[in-house]
Amino acid sequence: MTNPIRFNDAGGDHVLLCPSCGGDCLHHERVSSYDRAEDADALLQTVVRGQHVSIQLIRNSVQNPSARRDGVAIEFSCEGCPAHVELLLAQHKGSTRCSWRLVGSEAKITPITGRYEHH
Ligand SMILES: [Zn+2]
Repeated sequence: MTNPIRFNDAGGDHVLLCPSCGGDCLHHERVSSYDRAEDADALLQTVVRGQHVSIQLIRNSVQNPSARRDGVAIEFSCEGCPAHVELLLAQHKGSTRCSWRLVGSEAKITPITGRYEHH
């Protein structure tokens, strides 16, 4: 998803806007951390959703926002549309790159791994 990351000014704070509909009512859902040494084949994936935590050593894949190093993905649902999106933070050389990724609609949330448990 190439939509820009946009905010509304809220008197000092910034309100994150939905990349799909532009609405300002986004809710945190799943938070995923990808801890990877540079170009390593495996990484430590930590997924937190509510009180459920999953920590697994997995093979690196495109789920990791960073092509070569660490990444973080924060999933949001939107009150104004069915989009489920992830705000991605990707380590790229000395910089941190931010972008959006569409992860599906409310009707079909795609788990990152087969071991993910929904409750
Ligand atoms: Zn929306």
